[in-house]
Amino acid sequence: MPDAIQISGLRKTYAAQGNAPAKDALKGVDLTIRAGSIFGLLGPNGAGKSTMINILAGLVNKTAGKVSIWGFDQDVNPRQSRAAIGVMPQELNMDPFFSPRASLEVQAGLYGVPKSERWTDELLELVGLTAQANSYARSLSGGMKRRLLLAKALVHRPHILVLDEPTAGVDITLREMLWKNVRRLNEQGMTIILTTHYLEEAEQMCDEIAIINHGQVVVRQSTQDLLSRTDGKTLVLDTGGAVPHPPLPAGARPETRPDGRLAITYPPSRLRADQILDAVRAAGVPILDVAAEQPDLEDVFVELTRD
Ligand code: ADP
Ligand code: MG
Repeated sequence: MPDAIQISGLRKTYAAQGNAPAKDALKGVDLTIRAGSIFGLLGPNGAGKSTMINILAGLVNKTAGKVSIWGFDQDVNPRQSRAAIGVMPQELNMDPFFSPRASLEVQAGLYGVPKSERWTDELLELVGLTAQANSYARSLSGGMKRRLLLAKALVHRPHILVLDEPTAGVDITLREMLWKNVRRLNEQGMTIILTTHYLEEAEQMCDEIAIINHGQVVVRQSTQDLLSRTDGKTLVLDTGGAVPHPPLPAGARPETRPDGRLAITYPPSRLRADQILDAVRAAGVPILDVAAEQPDLEDVFVELTRD
């Protein structure tokens, strides 16, 4: 199998408009995404995620660089590279007068899918829009519109499915439904690329993650390696409401939680838990209960995107 995506030296400068100066949204991105993965593209607002995705989708023209999709160079084989990818955009853009069924048929037409190879009914079923198949799109709820966008991204059975903030502002039922579908499509062999603001979601769903900030990839690792990257563990002690912070070994940082518990964060590469606990006890602070916390993706993200 080829790599799903190969990006090298990718740059995008949006031209100046009116009072807004030119903007370097992507500043030389190199990124390879292996076929079969669920890949998370994370980054703060304005980092360049949608720009990158819209370039992959052929919706935004790159300023410089090379993009290959499923082995097809976008500039050399535009048709094949476009056929390999389906994109569910961040924005709800749809024709209000088309029904879901008509939207899917039009989309299939745009991608040159012959009538005999269309799977409109299955797609409607997959995203739970069978009952609304013939209603005007403008009468659909926001969640239904998102589901229709997912179905539209799939009409041509792409190798790669890209989801840009698919769960932003959607309710929990829809989220679960979406992730169930995404997992199933991935199990059937589809490569998934997604952006999300919900880091917990990315932690659970993605096997690999790239974090971008200010138009540059700051890290790209397996989710597991990324999580083990921060050298910080936390012991949370119930001290029965005791008092000022005890003196601790160098490198350990105490903090009183809103619930009154004492949280001590320390680098496990340099300190052991018993050194922390001994120091607390030596200060005469009782330890009624202890919990240990591992860093999560949120911690890693904050550390890597701090300016
Ligand atoms: P993200 O999806 O990570 O939030 P975007 O790719 O949407 O980031 O935006 C990256 C940067 O490019 C931002 O500073 C944004 O304001 C700017 N930008 C995005 N789209 C346009 C556009 N069409 N014209 C000018 N600037 C844009
Ligand atoms: Mg975006």
